[in-house]
Amino acid sequence: MAFEFFAFGQKKCGFEKFEMANLPKTLVLEDRTKLRIPLVFHIVYRDKKFNFPKSVILEQIQTLNDDFNGKNAQVSTLSPEFLELLGVFDVEFYLAEVDSSCIAFQGIQRRKTHILDLGTYRNNAGKRSIFYTSEGGMDAIIPSKYINIWVAEMESLRGISSGPSMANSLEDGIIIDPRYFGHHSLNDQLYEWGHTLSHEMGHYFGLNHIWGSLANECVEDDGIEDTPISYGPNFFCRNRVATCDRINPMWQNFMDYTQDDCLALFTAGQVNAMKANLSTLRTGLLAWGDCSDPILTKLKIFPNPCRDFIVISLNTRADLTYSLYSISGQRIVNGSLADGENYILNMNLLSAGTYILELVDPQGHLPKITQLVVKI
Ligand SMILES: [Zn+2]
Repeated sequence: MAFEFFAFGQKKCGFEKFEMANLPKTLVLEDRTKLRIPLVFHIVYRDKKFNFPKSVILEQIQTLNDDFNGKNAQVSTLSPEFLELLGVFDVEFYLAEVDSSCIAFQGIQRRKTHILDLGTYRNNAGKRSIFYTSEGGMDAIIPSKYINIWVAEMESLRGISSGPSMANSLEDGIIIDPRYFGHHSLNDQLYEWGHTLSHEMGHYFGLNHIWGSLANECVEDDGIEDTPISYGPNFFCRNRVATCDRINPMWQNFMDYTQDDCLALFTAGQVNAMKANLSTLRTGLLAWGDCSDPILTKLKIFPNPCRDFIVISLNTRADLTYSLYSISGQRIVNGSLADGENYILNMNLLSAGTYILELVDPQGHLPKITQLVVKI
């Protein structure tokens, strides 16, 4: 599954080719003034030094935004030939701080593990345990609405991403090894500026590696018109690989394997391809409403993830009914909540996993509220 076809010791990324057929000619995204895409992070650490503070995560998001919007500092080093191909996504990735019901929400979830290289560990059924709370990982949070990013140690891979054909699956998202995440003193020195996430985000929106899926040949390509045909991956800012027909390889492209120091661009063609996939296969990421309703913003559901109980704090003059469902939609418990009270819902007897809590106002004054609750 992972790309393992080089004799070098450098770590690769795990991504299978995504077929980019039938891209729509007109993109619905063009009508939007600003694209905003929420991210959630699952920090699953074996060593507490990799339990990164929020500041590292926010800095990583800033790098991602710079890279996607043509604002990376290395843009100034591009040759004129490649500078004219620079793509600008005009997007803002942000840390999720309210959920789709406008309730305050923890966009950074944390869990300690004892499993070595959990990011690449597979259970007996061949599934990656990182994606499942019941197996020591963390369940994805509504992958159709948030981009889920797991930070977990991996054997021989820097990152893994699902392509758009995996949209909405429980394993949809990105895994990054902590030594390649953000910018901090523990980074691998070749990849210390946080561009691995930009590379994996390119895959998430359907981009292939710049050399296509076959390395060390000049036939296969990435399917993007304005990226030059490439012989194979580059790893260093100098000392680059052989070229195809003396065509300059675009070694500063985020979809190459080049060290972080000199990475600089997605092309306009790559940005168009990513937007096409966003506007067709990943539209749920953009379906966020207005969260300015003052009643909803007072409602709190915590702690989440929880162990023995959760508190539903209404702080509003409304009587609500609640129902708790399993992820497969089976109702486990239901009842009613009095106004203005803190209500404790016992989770003690439930097994670890993700549940759906639904709150309904029988009078119809409030919209139905749906919240995912994770029991660990
Ligand atoms: Zn890759």
